[in-house]
Amino acid sequence: MEDVRITFIGGGNMGRALIGGLIADGMRAESIHVADPSEDQRRSLAEDLGVTVHDDNVEATRLADVLVVAVKPQVMDDVLASVADAIDGHTLVISVAAGMPLARICKGLGGHDRVVRAMPNTPALYQAGMTGLAAAGGVSETDRERATQVLEAAGEVAWVDDEALMDVVTAVSGSGPAYFFSLVEQLTAAGTRAGLPEVTAARLARQTAYGAGTMLAKSDVDAGELRKRVTSPGGTTAAALESLASNEFERIVDEAVQAAVKRGRELG
Ligand code: NAP
Repeated sequence: MEDVRITFIGGGNMGRALIGGLIADGMRAESIHVADPSEDQRRSLAEDLGVTVHDDNVEATRLADVLVVAVKPQVMDDVLASVADAIDGHTLVISVAAGMPLARICKGLGGHDRVVRAMPNTPALYQAGMTGLAAAGGVSETDRERATQVLEAAGEVAWVDDEALMDVVTAVSGSGPAYFFSLVEQLTAAGTRAGLPEVTAARLARQTAYGAGTMLAKSDVDAGELRKRVTSPGGTTAAALESLASNEFERIVDEAVQAAVKRGRELG
C-alpha cells in the first residue's frame, strides 16, 4: 500500500477501526485523509491517529487513490452524489455500508464501476472482524488486492463471486456475533437455573466463549475436529451435544440463517 493515498468519508466507529488497523499494519498516517462533519471527531482522529482531517468531502475525495465510504447507509445516497464529480477513473471506491447494493453505489457515483462492496462485522472494531467482499465490473486484480489489504486491517476477508451471496455473508458473519452473544446469554441463564449464582454463571459462559473463540482462531483444525477432541464418548459434553442434536440444533441454526437471508433480501 506504499504510495497509495486513502481517503475515508466518515471517521466514526468503522472508519476509525480500519484506520487504526492500517496504521498498526505499517501504513503511514500521512497517506490517510479523513472527511467528517463532526469537529470533535476530526480533532480526535488527528490527535489519536495523526491522519489529515477535512470538513469537505469533495476536497478529501480529490486526494484519493482509494476512497472508503464509511457513513451510515441512510446518508450514503447524498454522500455519493456529493463526491461523484470528484472521483476519476482510477479511484477505487470501497463501501462498507450495510445492505447497500453495488448497482446503487455505482449509479450514485454517476456510473463509476471501480467499486467494492464490503460487509464487515462489529468485531472489526477490535481488529477481529470478518468481512465479505463483492466487486463491481470495473474492479481489477490490483484493486482486489488493495481492497483486501484495507479490510484485512480489521480482521479477515472473504470474496464472493456473486453479489447475491452478500445476503448470506450478512446472515452468517454480519449478524453472527449476535448469535454467539445470545448463546452466552442462554448458557448464563441455564447455569443460573441449575444453581450457580448468576454472576458466576455469566463469567463462566463469557470466558468459555472467549476461550473457544481463541482455540478456533489459533488452532489449525476446524470447528468439527475441535468439538470431537473435547467430546469423550459417554461423557458430559457428549450428553449435552446429544441433547442439542435431538432438539434439532442444526435445523434451528439453519432456520435462523434463512430468516436473516430473507430479511436481507427484503431490505436490499
Ligand atoms: P458512525 O460511527 O456513525 O460513523 C459514521 C461517521 O460518518 C460519523 O462520524 C458521522 O458524523 C459521519 N458522517 C455523517 N454524515 C457524513 C457526511 N455527509 N460526510 C462525511 N461523514 C459523515 O457509523 P459506523 O458504525 O462507523 O458505520 C459506518 C458504516 O459502516 C455504516 O454504513 C454501517 O452500515 C457500516 N458497518 C458498521 C459496522 C459496525 O460494527 N459499526 C458493521 C458493519 C457495517 P456524525 O456522527 O457527526 O453524523
